[in-house]
Amino acid sequence: MRFDPPGTRILPAARGAAFRLPAGGRVRIVNPHGTQAVDLWAFAMADPDEFLSMDHLRSVNSVVAVDRGTRLVSNRRRPMLSIVEDTSAGRHDTLLCPCNASLYEELGCVGYHRSCADNLHEGLAAIGIEVPFTPASLNLFMSVRVEPDGTITRLLPSSRPGSHVLLRAEMDLVLALSSCPQDVTTINGPDRTPRDCAVEIVEVAPAGEPA
Ligand SMILES: [Zn+2]
Repeated sequence: MRFDPPGTRILPAARGAAFRLPAGGRVRIVNPHGTQAVDLWAFAMADPDEFLSMDHLRSVNSVVAVDRGTRLVSNRRRPMLSIVEDTSAGRHDTLLCPCNASLYEELGCVGYHRSCADNLHEGLAAIGIEVPFTPASLNLFMSVRVEPDGTITRLLPSSRPGSHVLLRAEMDLVLALSSCPQDVTTINGPDRTPRDCAVEIVEVAPAGEPA
């Protein structure tokens, strides 16, 4: 599946994809049902050791959740992405780790279960990129609440059907997305059903830029 030309594609339930997004390129992530969490990662196209960092964006912005206006920075504190539009409930989570095989084992799943971590690495591999670590993800459409005693509460999804987030690349990026396969907890809604999302590449860099 190619994601880099402009146009809209389905990000199937429980699946992921990675694609190159040159500086100035914009991508709209649409949540048709309003319930689906979408894990997002970004890497500098020139050097994947520079990546969108939840630790650093919390430090730079003094926030634990992402809204319009939050500076989405790398581990080198450089702007990587901007939120141009957000019609969702906002307060996108930065605290919870992307799901991985160990989590599903802990939840009692037997045999292979798809995960956001595997979706990230499969998506990167499909475009010839290997990253030997899994950064913390920006969890779009997922919200948690930090309680006064320091614990966190996982909230049910509360975005309206058809909500979207429009992002603009502030540097040449590799963007990776995972439609979270979580079907044991209610993070993707009370019926525990992962669903498709849509990804629209709105704009890419002028001809001559790497695609
Ligand atoms: Zn997940």
